[in-house]
Amino acid sequence: MAEKRDYYEVLGVDKNADQKTIKKAYRKLAMKYHPDVNDAPEAEEKFKELSEAYGVLSDDEKRQRYDQFGHAGMDGFTQEDIFNNINFEDIFRGFGFGGQSQGGFGSIFDLFGFGSETGRGPSRGSDIQKNIDLTLEEVATGLSKDFDITHKKECPHCHGSKAEPGSDVKTCTQCSGTGQVKQVQNTPLGQFATVSPCPQCRGEGQIVETPCSECHGVGLKTTTNKISINIPAGVETGTRLRVAGEGDDGLNGAPAGDLYVTIRVLKHDIFERSGQDLYYDLPISYVQACLGDKVDVPTIDGVAKLTIPPGTQSESTFKLRNEGLKHIRWDNKGNLYVTVKVVVPKKLSEKQKDILEEFAKESGEEISQVKQGFFDKVKESLNK
Ligand SMILES: [Zn+2]
Ligand SMILES: [Zn+2]
Repeated sequence: MAEKRDYYEVLGVDKNADQKTIKKAYRKLAMKYHPDVNDAPEAEEKFKELSEAYGVLSDDEKRQRYDQFGHAGMDGFTQEDIFNNINFEDIFRGFGFGGQSQGGFGSIFDLFGFGSETGRGPSRGSDIQKNIDLTLEEVATGLSKDFDITHKKECPHCHGSKAEPGSDVKTCTQCSGTGQVKQVQNTPLGQFATVSPCPQCRGEGQIVETPCSECHGVGLKTTTNKISINIPAGVETGTRLRVAGEGDDGLNGAPAGDLYVTIRVLKHDIFERSGQDLYYDLPISYVQACLGDKVDVPTIDGVAKLTIPPGTQSESTFKLRNEGLKHIRWDNKGNLYVTVKVVVPKKLSEKQKDILEEFAKESGEEISQVKQGFFDKVKESLNK
């Protein structure tokens, strides 16, 4: 293929052209080279080239990249990204291209090879959203979850044919069953051929004489079904799982949409989570901190032993390897981080006080003990 031409040159506009000028230039050229009106073999390529140039220059961000880096700056964008910027309906309004994006513009979208979502033909069934709440314990193990889903599925009475069983279905006379009608219009810009859905059969190619009594001629019926889904261990709030084909069925044999299950993980009573790691605060006594201890700490699936070494400071954190959560894809596990909090007793017996005084003396510490009454007064003044 020949070297890519400059986008401004393609549209025949100045580098400083404003959006209005760019749109006008594109509109004019697109009318000329639109493959529905121009049979020349190079028209299609020309139209694509124009549309690519317009798709970039009509988008401020892409235009800036192009101005700075030229065609090399466009490497990250697919042709579809670029064409998606263009509002064809707006561009071709008033030029006999019809008002609906699924009719008159069919040939444009076919030309670009886009999927059925923007193209012509029976459209795929809708996707369905469902939220599921999980406990952290469920996240740790993964599980199979059953729930009800309400979606539109093929009507069991007419099997999607839309007609009452036994009644007549006739081929549409206006479009001879193709579902499409072609119209040729003369405009100041030349002759435009547009293909649009047949108005008599609404694009279906056939006429139902007696609509199905169950679905009233829609072909789909809202039903509730039980769905079972396998939720892998390690999912997070916002994880989306797809169940193919469990959205609404498509019409006229189009594929069904998908079901998307979005996970929300409930807050846990004692564990905080960050990614695969878990965090837990463990209260210990001053004596445990001083002398060390071996204690049980809860884990997400049981209990683990933690050794607190002598002389542990409050807020020290210990890592229990592999006691966190499994990764959603890999086998490795996160860690459990235990932060110890030294708890100072609020009430002491006389004997405990004596021992602590003895302890202070031994440490060479001088303590002028505050009598209980003073604290009460402080408290009172603080609460005022
Ligand atoms: Zn039916
Ligand atoms: Zn028809």
